[in-house]
Amino acid sequence: MNQPVDHAAQRLVQQHLDHLHEVQDTLSPAEKQALRARIKDLLVREDAVLVAHYYTDPELQSLAEETGGCVSDSLEMARFGNAHPARTLVVAGVKFMGETAKILNPEKRVLMPTLEATCSLDLGCPADTFTAFCDQHPDHTVVVYANTSAAVKARADWVVTSSIAVDVVDHLAGLGEKVIWAPDKYLGGYVQKVTGADMILWDSSCIVHEEFKSRGILDLKKQFPDAAVLVHPESPASVVEIADAVGSTSQLIAAARDLPNERLIVATDRGIFYKMQQAAPGKIFMEAPTAGNGATCRSCAHCPWMAMNALDNLAHVLEHGGEEIFVDEDVRVKAMVPLQRMLDFSAELKRARGG
Ligand code: SF4
Repeated sequence: MNQPVDHAAQRLVQQHLDHLHEVQDTLSPAEKQALRARIKDLLVREDAVLVAHYYTDPELQSLAEETGGCVSDSLEMARFGNAHPARTLVVAGVKFMGETAKILNPEKRVLMPTLEATCSLDLGCPADTFTAFCDQHPDHTVVVYANTSAAVKARADWVVTSSIAVDVVDHLAGLGEKVIWAPDKYLGGYVQKVTGADMILWDSSCIVHEEFKSRGILDLKKQFPDAAVLVHPESPASVVEIADAVGSTSQLIAAARDLPNERLIVATDRGIFYKMQQAAPGKIFMEAPTAGNGATCRSCAHCPWMAMNALDNLAHVLEHGGEEIFVDEDVRVKAMVPLQRMLDFSAELKRARGG
C-alpha cells in the first residue's frame, strides 16, 4: 500500500532545483592550495574536526583525511564526531547530517559550509504532514530513513540508514509489526521486497538516484560485458534488478574492492569514486547513465546540494562562524530515542555476527 503522491513536496523540490546553480570550480591550483593551508590552520585554531560525506568534492574528502577527520556515510560521520575530542564539528554534507551530528553531540558546536545544502528526501517529507499521516495509522511502527529532518526523526520509532534498513525491518516483521516507511519510496520498496514486511511507503525520492536508467546501464553492459553493476537501493527497482551488488555507500565501496571485475558501473553519486579508487586502485569506474536517449538529466549522478560544499565556504565558516546547526532541545531529546535504538540494534547485530 502506497501513500498518495505529495505534489506539494515535489513542487518544492523542483523549485529548489530550479534555483540551484552548479558550483563553478573557478579556483586555480595555487588558490586551492592556499585555501587548503588556511583551512588547516583554522581547524587547529577553532579546535575543530572536518567530517565529510562520500558524495562531497574529493578536495574536501582528501582534506578531511589529511587533517585527521573522517570521510564516511551519515551515521559514521556522527559517530566519529561523537568520539572525537574536538569542540567543533564541521560537517561537509547536507543539512540532515549536520542535524544528526548535533542530536548525538549536543554539547558541541556543529558548523556546515552552507545550511542551504539540503536533500530532496528531507524536503519531500515535511514534519507536519508526516506527523498527521502517522497519526492516521496508530497501529504502525514508524521507521524513517536518516535522510529526514530532526522533527521527522522525533516522530519516529526507528531511524535507519541504508546499511541497516533491511535488518531493522526484518526484525520488526518478525515481531508481527506493520511499518510506515519514509521517505524514500524506492529504498522502501526494496526493503519491502527483501523482507516481505507489511509496509506503507511515503512517496518521496532522491533526485540523483531516481534518474539512473536500466536501459542505459544495459546498453553500457553490451559494450563492456565484463563490467559489474553496483547500485544504491535509492535507485528505481528496474535498476536494482540488474545489479551485481546492491547496498549502502559503505557496502558499495566494499563491493568495489571485493568483486573480481576490473570495470565497475556505479549507480550512485560520483563523489564516491574518490573512496572507491582508494579501496580498489587500478579498477575502472564508470558512472551509470542517467539521461535517456535525447533527454537531459537534472542531477547527472551528482547531488546538487552536496556540490554546494566547497573550499571557499568551508574556510569562510571556520573563519567567521555562522552556518551553525541548532536543534530545539525538546525535538533533539525525542529524536535521540529512535537514533539510539538504531545504534543499539546495530551494535547488537555486529556482536551477533562476530564483527
Ligand atoms: S544524493 Fe539524494 S539522498 Fe543524498 S543528499 Fe542528495 S538528494 Fe539527498
